[in-house]
Amino acid sequence: MTDRFDVVVVGGGIVGLATARALQIARPGIAIALLEKEPALAAHQTGRNSGVLHSGLYYRPGSLKARLCVEGRRRMLAFCEEEGLPVRISGKLVVAVSDAEIARLEGLCERGAANGVEGIGRLGPSGIADHEPHAAGVAGLWVPSTGVVDFGGVARRLGQILADRGASILTGCEVDRIETRSGGVVVGAGERTIAARALVNAAGLHADRVAAMSGVDPPVRIVPFRGEYHVLSAQAAGLVGGLIYPVPDPRFPFLGVHFTRRIDGSVEVGPNAVLALGREHYRGTRADWAGLTEVLGYRGFRRLAARHAVPGLGEMLRSRSRALYAREARRLVPAIRSGDLDRGGSGIRAQAVFPNGQLADDFVIAGEGPLIHVLSAPSPAATAALVIGEHLAGLVILRLDGGSD
Ligand SMILES: Cc1cc2nc3c(=O)[nH]c(=O)nc-3n(C[C@H](O)[C@H](O)[C@H](O)COP(=O)(O)OP(=O)(O)OC[C@H]3O[C@@H](n4cnc5c(N)ncnc54)[C@H](O)[C@@H]3O)c2cc1C
Repeated sequence: MTDRFDVVVVGGGIVGLATARALQIARPGIAIALLEKEPALAAHQTGRNSGVLHSGLYYRPGSLKARLCVEGRRRMLAFCEEEGLPVRISGKLVVAVSDAEIARLEGLCERGAANGVEGIGRLGPSGIADHEPHAAGVAGLWVPSTGVVDFGGVARRLGQILADRGASILTGCEVDRIETRSGGVVVGAGERTIAARALVNAAGLHADRVAAMSGVDPPVRIVPFRGEYHVLSAQAAGLVGGLIYPVPDPRFPFLGVHFTRRIDGSVEVGPNAVLALGREHYRGTRADWAGLTEVLGYRGFRRLAARHAVPGLGEMLRSRSRALYAREARRLVPAIRSGDLDRGGSGIRAQAVFPNGQLADDFVIAGEGPLIHVLSAPSPAATAALVIGEHLAGLVILRLDGGSD
């Protein structure tokens, strides 16, 4: 028997949930099924990240990331306040530790201003100490609008609201086939078959595979990068008041090892970025061989690896050695010792890579017929989820109404 809906959303992370919620707001009464393969929502990127409500400092002006982050931050803050979810706008400090980083810091300041980030302040060494007495550097930026939140909690609340308003949230339901038909799409998950007029693929680490199931040759492939965290011991946690970041290396999409005082008060150090041995390989050294072979066989990955072999190796060494990890952390907070770091959790980023080895720098959304594929939704997609969801809902509605984008 086939169940029928207006829209099927694949993926119970924050992007899929926010899209379903935006559809419910735009079209009250719309029949939505959200399919999540895990037994609970937010089990992957959404529930395993730094929890930072980004301000919009880093992104190329005019990019989707820049446009959606600034507005998304404001909307996420308002949502948490309305729903009584914990959120704290603590501000963040970006620290340059060498003269060579000062020009890049200035570039960040200009980007932030161009993106509409308010209140950014330039700091000298004493200004750094005024905000974070244990941080040290030659110059800094103070970004007052950055904060922290629990994105997993936000996702679960969205799921609850969706269900209360009539959406079918089907957990433990892994989509394994997709067929497009005239007038819509038929999706299979084991024994179950679901028909809908439109489909949103928000499958995160598996988004390219889900796109391929529908017969699409995705323009990017997902390469999983694990981010490992340490937690500061209770004695050392007082060395960090809020959020302390390095100046990012422009060659990489990740922000570099930073300090985050989380919403629960604990202080995390990280994440680093090492090639994951599988798309859901959070711990240990035993590889998911099928997944790893797929990555190594991808031309885009091999080109990327050839270009970044040396820094990649450095990250892998740091991943194995707490002393090296602590050395990286000490660049920002010199009093940190390796004994202050306890191993924490990890998350895996779905990094989209083009066949020429270029990393996708922006969100990548592709549409074909009744299908919309979110092929890349990296950070700050959790911050921006509510407005990304509205953007995707707009694309769905065009399809339901018989238009095109
Ligand atoms: C280490 C790390 C730190 C980060 N820090 C931040 C931060 O501080 N601030 C920020 O804004 N962003 C941050 N991000 C990015 C943010 O977490 C992601 O951009 C966001 O969570 C993406 O959400 P998503 O819904 O697209 O993906 P996910 O949360 O991964 O959800 C995708 C879902 O699809 C499901 N799925 C996959 N395949 C199928 C299938 N075949 N059938 C059914 N379901 C399927 C998965 O089980 C999963 O639950 C970070 C990410 C990582 C990994």
